[in-house]
Amino acid sequence: MTRPARVVIDLAAVQSNLCRVRELAPGRKVMAIVKADAYGHGLVRIASALSSVDAFGVSCLEEAQQLREAGISQPVILLEGPYSAGELPDIQQLGLDIVVHHKSQLDMLKQVQLAAPIKVWLKIDSGMHRLGFEPESLASVWQALHQYASVARPVNLMSHLATANERDNPITQRQLQIFRQACHGLQAEKSIANSAAIIAWPESHADWVRPGLMLYGVSPLQDATAAEHGLVPVMTLRSELISVKFLPKGESVGYGASWRCPEDMTIGIVAAGYGDGFPRHANSGTPVLVKGKRVSIIGHASMDMLTVDLRSQADARVGDPVELWGANLPIEEIARHAATIPYELLCGVHKRLSFIEHGQA
Ligand SMILES: *Cc1c(COP(=O)(O)O)cnc(C)c1O
Repeated sequence: MTRPARVVIDLAAVQSNLCRVRELAPGRKVMAIVKADAYGHGLVRIASALSSVDAFGVSCLEEAQQLREAGISQPVILLEGPYSAGELPDIQQLGLDIVVHHKSQLDMLKQVQLAAPIKVWLKIDSGMHRLGFEPESLASVWQALHQYASVARPVNLMSHLATANERDNPITQRQLQIFRQACHGLQAEKSIANSAAIIAWPESHADWVRPGLMLYGVSPLQDATAAEHGLVPVMTLRSELISVKFLPKGESVGYGASWRCPEDMTIGIVAAGYGDGFPRHANSGTPVLVKGKRVSIIGHASMDMLTVDLRSQADARVGDPVELWGANLPIEEIARHAATIPYELLCGVHKRLSFIEHGQA
């Protein structure tokens, strides 16, 4: 692509982040979560860099198919299970595991005839109230599943935490307790920990941990940076200055003419905008690195471009490198300025950009 906007993916960072997961949860199996195109990083690219994990978690059959076509042989878990009974023969053939979270899926499994049974993770709703069976019904559903010819034994058990990213929130303790009680006496492997719980709630680690965000080198907790957790950012969004100009005091910049120069000043135009996945809501003051030095965005990003205040960088030139987030500028900070979360920014990076890999896995 001729446009200088690029996504750089650091594959060595992915592996280093996996090592961090293993340090924090020693001896536990790792289900690497690579849904949503590996949080925007590229599904096969990331899964290939994580070849030593025990399993991958995805959100649909098509993602699982891509992994199998790329030769990935580990278990692949469909985190929302099958959406319809018609998927089950393909799921069986591809050797995928499924999460079963709703009664409608029990009916599918009861009726279907398959060449071989499917591995199931039974999901309990321990309090997030999105997916899963009521704690009271868990044991009976677990036992019922063991009677189905389409289901492999044993059926594993899982749940998901709503507030693990808040160290003081009592909801997490309650969810862990509900999960523990509901699973009591059931001989199966268990999993509840996402990235935040891997870091902040060691008692949640169980048999399997399910890291997502932290594998991509982003902090799942607000109270510390990725670097403080020993995580290395995997994605860097970068571009270049394509225009530098000097404007007199009072002139406005960009659509809506909403931002005005408070004094005579130099501004720069960066080839990156919301059409690339840079958030339009990022406010004036959002940091950007020009030649490694911090400057601020002025006004709002447009589709292909955004404007920066170059008062502190009088020597800036067209062609100077710009980092929008990544290795040297935490995406957590950009997310805060845009009133969103890093997950949304990562997933929103546009596929039209060129992706460059470095730090071979
Ligand atoms: C997305 C997801 C995860 C990973 O969450 P992170 O906060 O990114 O670590 C774990 N488990 C399930 C079921 C998920 O859907």
